[in-house]
Amino acid sequence: MDRTTETMLRTFLESELSRLETEIEEIELEGHEALSEASGENNYRDHMADQGSATFSRELDMTLDDNVRDALVAVRKALVRMDEGVYDVCERCGAPIGEERLKAMPTATMCITCKAAEESR
Ligand SMILES: [Zn+2]
Repeated sequence: MDRTTETMLRTFLESELSRLETEIEEIELEGHEALSEASGENNYRDHMADQGSATFSRELDMTLDDNVRDALVAVRKALVRMDEGVYDVCERCGAPIGEERLKAMPTATMCITCKAAEESR
């Protein structure tokens, strides 16, 4: 992979990282407010939030932002792999993942063959 492509992908991953971190922060800080607005039970919810906010936000963590957390883990891992110089190396078979695949999916850690094998299990 040439340096220009790597720089482009790193820039993308770093912007994804900060976007996802912001998103998780917002979910944690404002999650219960957003939910109470949607349910139309503002007064009741606000009242309950005083006593039950800790429990409530834990439940929220497990549902709404699971995908965001998974994505964040994948982006962090991709950046670490880049730092270690193994970004383009399949973590399963050691073959090159391929520039086109990484451009299409910058968080990929396996070549297309291994990924297909993994998904068909
Ligand atoms: Zn592979």
